Amino acid sequence: MFGDTFETVEELLNPTITNYQTRMARNCADYMELPELPRLKHFAGLKNQGATCYLNSLIQSFYMCPEFRKVILSLPLCKETIEDSSNLAKNESRNRFLLEFQKLFIQLQSLQSKATSTEALTSSFGWNEGQQMWQQDVSDANKVLFETLDRSLYGTPYIIAPFYKGVVFHHITCLNCKNSHGNEEIMYDLNIQVEGNKNLSEGLFSYINPFLLDGNNQYFCDLCGIKVDALKGDKIRKLPPILTVTLNRYTFDYEKMQRVKLNDRFEFPLEIEMGVYLENPVDNLVYELQGVIIHRGNAHGGHYFAYFRDLLDEGDWLSHIPEYWQEKEEIQQQQKKQNADEIDYDEVKLPFEISNPKVAQGWYDFNDSSVIPIPVNKIQQQYQGSESAYILIYRDRNLVPSKLSNEEIPKYLFDYVNKLNEKIEQDRQAYEEAKQHIIISVADASVVDIQDHKLLNEKYEKGTYKLKLSTTVKQLYEQINKDEYWLLEFQENYQTKLLHFPRYLKNLESTLEEEKVGHESTWILVKKDQDIPQVGQQKVPYRLNFIINKQPQSFLLYTSTTLLELKQLVFALSGIPENEQELRNTQNQKVVSELADETQLGEMQLTLETQILVKKKNQVQTASKNQKDQNQQLGEEIISILVEQDDKVGVSKFYVNINQTIQELIEFIKEQFGLTEAHRLRNLNGKILFCKSDLSVQLKEFQDFREGGARLQIEKGEVPETGKISIVVQYKEQNFEIHVDPRQDKIEQIKLESCKSFNLDPAQHRLYKVDWLQVPSEGLTDEAKTISQCYLRDRDLIILCERTAQIDCELIRFQLYSTTTGYPDDCVFQKHETMRKDATVNDLKQMIISSFGLNVNIDQLRVRDINKNRFFGQVFRKLELPLQKIQFSTNDIVYQVLENPENLQEDEMLLLIKERDPINKVYIKPQEFVFKVSKTPTLLELKDQISKFVGIQEGTQLELAKFVIYEFQWLHIDPDVIEKQLQGKGKQGNQGNQNNKKKGQQGKNQQQQQQQQQQNPCQNLRKNPINLSEGDFIGYRLGDHPKDDFQTKEDNELRERMIAARKNKHNALGPMRRQQEQGFAVAIE
Ligand SMILES: [Zn+2]
Repeated sequence: MFGDTFETVEELLNPTITNYQTRMARNCADYMELPELPRLKHFAGLKNQGATCYLNSLIQSFYMCPEFRKVILSLPLCKETIEDSSNLAKNESRNRFLLEFQKLFIQLQSLQSKATSTEALTSSFGWNEGQQMWQQDVSDANKVLFETLDRSLYGTPYIIAPFYKGVVFHHITCLNCKNSHGNEEIMYDLNIQVEGNKNLSEGLFSYINPFLLDGNNQYFCDLCGIKVDALKGDKIRKLPPILTVTLNRYTFDYEKMQRVKLNDRFEFPLEIEMGVYLENPVDNLVYELQGVIIHRGNAHGGHYFAYFRDLLDEGDWLSHIPEYWQEKEEIQQQQKKQNADEIDYDEVKLPFEISNPKVAQGWYDFNDSSVIPIPVNKIQQQYQGSESAYILIYRDRNLVPSKLSNEEIPKYLFDYVNKLNEKIEQDRQAYEEAKQHIIISVADASVVDIQDHKLLNEKYEKGTYKLKLSTTVKQLYEQINKDEYWLLEFQENYQTKLLHFPRYLKNLESTLEEEKVGHESTWILVKKDQDIPQVGQQKVPYRLNFIINKQPQSFLLYTSTTLLELKQLVFALSGIPENEQELRNTQNQKVVSELADETQLGEMQLTLETQILVKKKNQVQTASKNQKDQNQQLGEEIISILVEQDDKVGVSKFYVNINQTIQELIEFIKEQFGLTEAHRLRNLNGKILFCKSDLSVQLKEFQDFREGGARLQIEKGEVPETGKISIVVQYKEQNFEIHVDPRQDKIEQIKLESCKSFNLDPAQHRLYKVDWLQVPSEGLTDEAKTISQCYLRDRDLIILCERTAQIDCELIRFQLYSTTTGYPDDCVFQKHETMRKDATVNDLKQMIISSFGLNVNIDQLRVRDINKNRFFGQVFRKLELPLQKIQFSTNDIVYQVLENPENLQEDEMLLLIKERDPINKVYIKPQEFVFKVSKTPTLLELKDQISKFVGIQEGTQLELAKFVIYEFQWLHIDPDVIEKQLQGKGKQGNQGNQNNKKKGQQGKNQQQQQQQQQQNPCQNLRKNPINLSEGDFIGYRLGDHPKDDFQTKEDNELRERMIAARKNKHNALGPMRRQQEQGFAVAIE
């Protein structure tokens, strides 16, 4: 019935010459809204609202779930009619949401339409703008919908969530005390990584597989009271009967700095044994695939559609699937298997065995308004690629779907859908009726100027007639009662305002339909004896622009005008004989005069803007300077050049004489392109601009021209003085070009001149170089430097900014932490901060004081660096030092308010010292100690100062050790011990010492002695292996305890675990082990 509705409306005119197109409706129905298409035999689709992306797939997944549908359709929300919503009153908005769901579902079930609209539903939860939809991920949207539904159904016997809700346990398990810390969470879907997993089974194991927190990521265990290695992960406590699995195909490409979609292959089966993935594994927990939501596109957008299995056999898949195969065969015959290389997944068996044959039946492809049955094998097409599975819906095999009987559905819903169906039927009838009619307008000939193709009055009088398409032309003339006239059709081009007269209506016996008289076409009545030559389908009027002798002129021609006729016209205007004319389309540089004489204007790819440049032929000779020798030298002196025009795409090739000068060449090229303003020429080979002294030089003096094929660019602008280059200064999207001598001119000059041009104060502005993204990358601060000293080159862009502007390249970003004790244990993150690189330590401190409202003097504020391993480092001393001169080891800074002013000098090093209790193998509370360091601080100096600081009696033995943070190891600062340690490790570093000892036995000379001193590991504490630096922990021990190694029990345990963790870094699966055939086997404690 509606089979022909979707044919595109024929364009009656086809002139390519202009945009002259008249869209002609065929009948009154063409502008009507289309009636609903009839429903197909099985499921109804959902109309695409444009911005609702994945919503249609989600709604179909709910509808195709019998449990979900049952709850929605059986809710008694209204009383007698759908308007009578007194039952809704209690909770208006939530029930409106449910009612819209209900209305949509009854339409999906019973509406006599191919597809249903979701508009009312989406507006009921405020998604009609589609905004939230774009921002949200489909699995988030899924969750939001469920939570809304769950809340809406709260307190009723109708419940939905238990079908979809599972429980996961997020845990962190301390490897020290084996205790798990964590929390349970309701889970609506399992988010499985595609990256690194080849199928669902691997993905699920990765999901439950914990990862190790070690090194810098160590976990602070409350029970143990220290930082420990720990396992972090998720355990599945409970699976819902209907399980949603989201396949995370997104990853971040750090090179391109953007989110990308992985198109890797990821297989998923029709049946899966889920029991093994539970926290407490069980047997025989089989889930069956029921739906696949598919995303086609990239990380930034695309289209969603879905495959669902018809669990209730409502669609009678077995009887409809042959249609699919038949249609496919027809398509393949038409295409004659063009894509023979592509895998036809429809016929390739799935790579998984199944035990229940029903899971391989009843599959449909739901793609917005289209729903078609598909073979199950097609699913594997969605294993990989830019079109691939995004969400999988599995069902517990034990969940038996049950059908909802019509008696369980409230009567008001049927009344509602029946009313809609009646309306649809009426619309269809009205549409059919309208299809049989057209309306035309008829005016008197006096409203148009036929010669000039003009409408004399925009608001002319006209009669309108509604006519049946089966009316004959004769009947039409009878109806308008104009015997002595012909109807002449006219169409207006809204751009050119020119009228086209395509035809008369003269065949009295044919019907309006046969004559293809258009709906809303306009006609004038002209006397039968009046002869009008301008009438014809091809006689579309067109005003063509010429440039003859540099004078623009235009003439009214027709698309049917031939090239010969055109040339005759040009001859009349210019006196150039037809065979000597060169007619060039300046828009595309095509020489149209070389086309066949009978070529019509309509075939010449002309547009409204086209200009035809008229010239005498033989441009090569015109460009040649030496007319006399022309014939002899042709071939020797005539070479080709390639010219690009600034900002235009494409290259033009010309032949020129190398005896010409650059100046003449510029003029020649300008003429060819029809350019009038000042232009200059650039040799693209080396990107060199021809400057003023080049202008009088002949082309043959340049090597590029002697050989022919030189690539040039003609660009707008003045020719620079000799030796100068062009620099473009940009200020707020305005450009200023300046020609400078790179060896003489200074940055200052550029600034002064550009500020003058933009009318700005030079003192308040600065210039910046740009990076390849044209973003300021480096301030040109030293304005006394020359252009070449700043490595600026011809055509470089520089940017002019206000002195106070926050330019990214001049900013330093860091994280600010605070501490009250000065020990890293209480380090607290405060905020992200940005400052200029030339800000000083003083500025930094002032900023901290003011932004945290600290009531302290600047010398009571200590600010220091935080090391990579989260311990405190260098204290910032010199107030006047710019931040860019400080070498931050990370971009983390910590501040501490001190009780007393601090004035650390360059030769003072702040250390943390703590006394060792060698009996109990612990340390006593640390204290800060300022070590006055010499150029090469020695162990002796350190010992000396510490003993004075803590007040150790002379003669008491003092031993020191440095804590190597990331090793959990105390390094005993004793030359003999260190040497032994190094030897014990078998490191290369100790070989030097051994050699030296041997040499020493042979007899030392002074040089060797010096060498040995240098290699004494404690000679310079700043150097390897002690590497003493600010913030270090130093343990000191009194008395002789040769068996004490400075380690604590805690240190030893952590160290052991760290070593084990390093070994296991890539095998941190714990007790899990891999099996060859069945994928994985898992033993969970
Ligand atoms: Zn613990």
